[in-house]
Order: sequence, then structure tokens, then C-alpha cells
Amino acid sequence: MFKNADARLLEDQQLTEMIADRLDRIKRGPASVSIDYDQFTRNLREFDFSEPRSLHSVGEFVSEATAFGSVPMTHPRYFGLFNPAPSYASEWADRIAAAFNPQLAVWSHAPAAVDIEIHTVAALARRIGFPDGASGHFTSGGSEANETAVLCALTRAAPRYASDGARCFAGQPALYVSRESHLAWLKIAHRLGIGRQAVRLVETDGAGRMSPSALRDVIGEDLRQGAIPIFVASTAGTTNAGMIDPMVEIGEIAARQGIWHHVDAAWGGALIASAELRPALQGMERADSITVDAHKWFATTMGAGIFLCRAPKVLSEVFRVSADYMPSNDASRDPYVTSALWSRRFIGVRLFMNLAVSGWSGYAHHVERAVALIGRLRTSLQESGWEIANDSPMAVLNVIPPPRLGSSADVVARTQTHGGAWVSLASVERKPTVRICITNGQTDEADVDALHEILCLLR
Ligand SMILES: *Cc1c(COP(=O)(O)O)cnc(C)c1O
Repeated sequence: MFKNADARLLEDQQLTEMIADRLDRIKRGPASVSIDYDQFTRNLREFDFSEPRSLHSVGEFVSEATAFGSVPMTHPRYFGLFNPAPSYASEWADRIAAAFNPQLAVWSHAPAAVDIEIHTVAALARRIGFPDGASGHFTSGGSEANETAVLCALTRAAPRYASDGARCFAGQPALYVSRESHLAWLKIAHRLGIGRQAVRLVETDGAGRMSPSALRDVIGEDLRQGAIPIFVASTAGTTNAGMIDPMVEIGEIAARQGIWHHVDAAWGGALIASAELRPALQGMERADSITVDAHKWFATTMGAGIFLCRAPKVLSEVFRVSADYMPSNDASRDPYVTSALWSRRFIGVRLFMNLAVSGWSGYAHHVERAVALIGRLRTSLQESGWEIANDSPMAVLNVIPPPRLGSSADVVARTQTHGGAWVSLASVERKPTVRICITNGQTDEADVDALHEILCLLR
């Protein structure tokens, strides 16, 4: 089960070769799940765990199954959801975290690792333009970060929420997000005990952004009905179409009503790296809290979200606890008393290493080139008679095919069957579109031109 340092070298080398082989074969194969699924399930059933097997043979099975039994994120023609091809530095970081397995619940158990995370979060907060004193923490993903935001809002709105829960409110607490937002908000409201009804899906402006006047109307109606507005989230980079809600106006409405303003920039937050593109995020720096995922456009391996908070004192109110077996409960640096997790993996080292190796300039290049490639595709599809259905400053494009090529759903199904590229179906303002997103830093002009040909039935 364990291995001494000298015995590792050979097997580490074998693992490296095993992975390199799969990565290479993925690139040359289809951009879709390509495993023989029936064969795979038969092989899987043979694992009854009665007899030990060699690590090498199990590694072969798992790497083959994972590489080809998943939609391949590392394929340069995966124009898919926000999942990146992970940067190599973040793979190193994952490996280092795994090897030493530090426990980051309390600072005194892993002071260096906790400080590396605090340092990285602070750099991100400064880059965004948050004031000194702002802070936050790494999370398992954007959903946890968004849930933390709602917990902060509920706790700030009613000090008795901590002891009495949702029944401390005299009416239904209400959360406002746009109809185009990420619908994890429904699960969050459910889990927090305020009920899915708490979520108000505010109308959009016809272009996929929350309508501020609709927001004002819904809040006004709620106040008349006795509901209690608590929280509004602007989405900076909607999942369907990369649209950015008008954060300045929404922030002003939130301030006037005294409600928490959160910005969900899970994917789009990466634009802060680029001096040229970051103006699109104007207003984000005035929010009460922000979600950014490192595991999306920042290209780390999965399971790395970030919650940032303008006035983080509320976090120690939300997550306070003391247990006599814990060495301390210091809200200035013990993560288990300021965040949802207890045992805590060294999540942030992946963003730390990637930032250190690439610099902000490396990330700026990464997002700018993706946006430029999407621009190239937008032009070429428009010239071929496609309708452009979104107007995002980010690297996602929604298009509707000309009638001769069938419906958006036809095109997506045909492309996935073809296997030469992977795109998805998404609706923008209730119209089905072909959604094309670039998050892979190795996608290039030849890949984009190939996608154009596949979409137009030219290859
Ligand atoms: C991905 C995403 C989420 C959910 O984050 P996870 O990391 O998948 O938990 C929430 N909001 C937006 C805008 C997203 O893009």
C-alpha cells in the first residue's frame, strides 16, 4: 500500500509514460467518449476485490477508462462546457499536495500551506480591486462558494439566523438571480432550509443579462407581499452564453435595499488577468462577495473554487465552532472556523503554482487568445450564413445554423457523432443555439477552422 522513495522512481516513470501515451492518443482520436462501453462494464465487474492485483495493471485499467471513457477535456477540439485542459503546473501541484497530504483545517498543522493559500487569495482580491482587509478561501468549487455567499447574506440580515435558522425571518427570505444564472441556486436554497421558492428568477433584457428594472419590480412586489429580500447575485459570464449582468446597476439597487450583492464570476472572473478585457467586469470590485473558479478558465485541475469577501468578519460568524480536540480556533487563520470544509485538502496550491509559473501576463495571454479565436470563428460562421445569438466579451459563442444545415439540435447531435469536435446545445433567451466555448489553452486557429468546416458539413 505504501512505497519508499527509491522504489517510487521507476513506477513514477511508468505512470508518466502511461499518461503521456493517453494524452497523445486523445489528441489524435475523436473529441468524444470513445471507450467500448460494454467491454468496460464487463472488465469493471471483474473487480470483486478478492485478489490483490498489481498497481501497474490497475493503473492501466483506470487511465485507459478515464482517458477514453470521458469527454476529453484535453482534446484541442473540445469546444465544450467550462471545463479546461488542466495546466501542467497545476498537475504538479496536485501531485505535491497528494504526496505530503497536508491537513489545512488549522494553521498550526500546516502553517506553510495555509499561508500559501492566504497569499494567493489576497493576490486575487487585490487584482480584482477589493479593499485591504478583504479575504476569502478556496472551496471545493463554485457551488460551495455561492452557497457561502448566501450563508453570509442570511447571517448579516438576521443575527438570529445562526441560532434559529430560517424561522427567525418574519417572512419568506428572497434571493434574486437572473433566469440565465447557474441554477445551483435552487439546490443552495433547498440545502439552507429557506426553500427553493426563495429563488426569484429575474427576467433578462433580451440579450441574456439580468434586467435591472425587472429586478426593481420583483423586489418591490416581494416587499408588498411581506417577503424579505436578502441577496442578489449578478452573473459575470453566464453558463449558456457568457453574458455579464449589469453589475454597477445591480450593485446600486442592492445597496439601496440593504441587501447582499454577490458576483458569480465562476468562469468569467479570469478576465481580470487581462488589462484589455477586464473592463468588462467593471462593478465587480464593489460587490460584497465574489465567486471565481480556478478550475475553469484559470485551468487548474478540478475541485478548486474561490470565495472572496469584502468584509470577511461575517465568515467567522457563519462558520464559528469550537471543539476541544482542535488545537485552536483562530478566525484570522484557521480555515475550519471560517469556511464550510473541515478536513481541508491543499486546494489553492494549484492556482499558486500556475500563477507563479505563468504570471498574470501568462494568464492574460491565455484568455486573450481564446477570445481572439472565438472572434475568428464568429466572423467565419457569419460569412457562412449563421446567425450570431450572443454578444459576449468572453470566449463563448452561440450560433444558429442557416436552415439548410438543420436545427441547432441537429447540428450538435451530428457534430458529436462525427467526433471531430465537441460542441453543446444551449438556449439563449429561450432560443436553442449551438454553444461553442474555448477553454483549452492549446486550441489553435487550425482547430477553429476545422470546427467551422465540420459545422458547415465541409468535412
Ligand atoms: C460552473 C459555474 C458554477 C458552479 O460551479 P462549480 O465549480 O461547478 O461548483 C456556478 N456559476 C457559474 C456562473 C458557473 O460557471
